[in-house]
Amino acid sequence: MSEDCVFCQIIDGDIPGRTVYEDDDVFAFLDANPLSRGHTLVIPKSHHERVSDLPAGDRAAVFEALGRLAPVVEAAVDADGVTVGMNDGEAAGQEVPHVHGHLVPRFDGDSAGPIHNIFRSTADLSDEELDEVAEDIKTAIGGA
Ligand code: 5GP
Ligand code: ZN
Repeated sequence: MSEDCVFCQIIDGDIPGRTVYEDDDVFAFLDANPLSRGHTLVIPKSHHERVSDLPAGDRAAVFEALGRLAPVVEAAVDADGVTVGMNDGEAAGQEVPHVHGHLVPRFDGDSAGPIHNIFRSTADLSDEELDEVAEDIKTAIGGA
């Protein structure tokens, strides 16, 4: 629990939220400013800011819940698909510093497009640059 975290306060019932699911590890509730009908947030009950901060158990619980709830939310609002997404870090647009996965129901013809649409252009890397990036990431993973 982080005193000044809005999501911790929703879990504790100090701020009202439209809870749709809860178990020992995760909590799910409707987004207050929904991008579409049924827009749901899935959060770990323990306060962590970034996905990488989550202990393995919470990581597993959050992704398990996202996977289990996505088709349920989709069916509940009669949607045609779901965008499952996380803004991880301020530069990625994360506004609430408590890990949360978005389940955004998608409807044929809603015109929002794929999450690729958050970028106006692609990175435009040469084959050599892609090779270099892959090596850098492999090396970083090896050292992690
Ligand atoms: P982020 O940009 O951090 O990934 O998304 C935060 C989300 O939390 C936003 O979609 C926003 O509408 C939602 N949100 C922010 N404050 C509240 C709140 O007090 N209650 C609820 N239910 N959702 C909130
Ligand atoms: Zn919190």
